[in-house]
Amino acid sequence: MEKNTLKKILPAAVFILFLIPAVTSSLLDLRQRQENEIIAAQLLAQQQAEAKAAEKIYLLGQFDPSQRSDFTVVPANYDIGGYTMYLRQETLSAFLEMAAAAQKDGVDLKIASATRNFDYQKNLWNNKWNALPKSMSDLEKFQNVLEYSAVPGTSRHHWGTEIDFNNANPQYFNTEEGKEVYNWMSQNAWEYGFCQTYTAKGPDRPTGYDEEKWHWSYLPLSIGFTEDYKNLVTEADIKGFDGDQFVAQANLIQNYVLGINPKCL
Ligand SMILES: [Zn+2]
Repeated sequence: MEKNTLKKILPAAVFILFLIPAVTSSLLDLRQRQENEIIAAQLLAQQQAEAKAAEKIYLLGQFDPSQRSDFTVVPANYDIGGYTMYLRQETLSAFLEMAAAAQKDGVDLKIASATRNFDYQKNLWNNKWNALPKSMSDLEKFQNVLEYSAVPGTSRHHWGTEIDFNNANPQYFNTEEGKEVYNWMSQNAWEYGFCQTYTAKGPDRPTGYDEEKWHWSYLPLSIGFTEDYKNLVTEADIKGFDGDQFVAQANLIQNYVLGINPKCL
């Protein structure tokens, strides 16, 4: 190489040598950033999966309401269920406001049943199952118990948004008092966020439980839970009790969980 050429090249070579660390470090930065982004995306996906799993456990009622800070005890003067009952705080607040308004109109609203978790419903279900005659087939037993009881994991009572008012017996609503309660609720309950879940069956509600004048849902919470149930829970998740092998063929989610008054959806 000639001396002159070397003179020309040298400054450029020095310049390039200076650049190398800068280029290398910005390449490393880029790789680090990409790795960080991948880790953040994985973390987010994991958090979302965990949130979905937790929501599913909630929707299936597999928790103890006394251990949750978003549930609260129904005051004894409204509790006619004979056991310590819980509701979601928002549901109870709305109920108390509604009960005070009803009181002014001379109507006494009480709570006959509130939150019933999976274990509660499972005991109820299995007891009824075991009381049926041995001569019945398992499918017959399933259909028989389902007529009046929710399959554990499918009851809206799991959610802390449902109240059975005054008396969960159709006969009560033929009495003067029962009629007054129902009329008052029909006219006023919507103002407090409550909707009669199981109206008379007909073209707009072809499947599900028969009419229940006592059972009302607190919509500001229950609409979201109904939607989540539709999206997250499958029939394979509904198990752990006598006869659970018939859940899929009964099409329980579509026919029962979603078989409610369309105004409550
Ligand atoms: Zn009910």
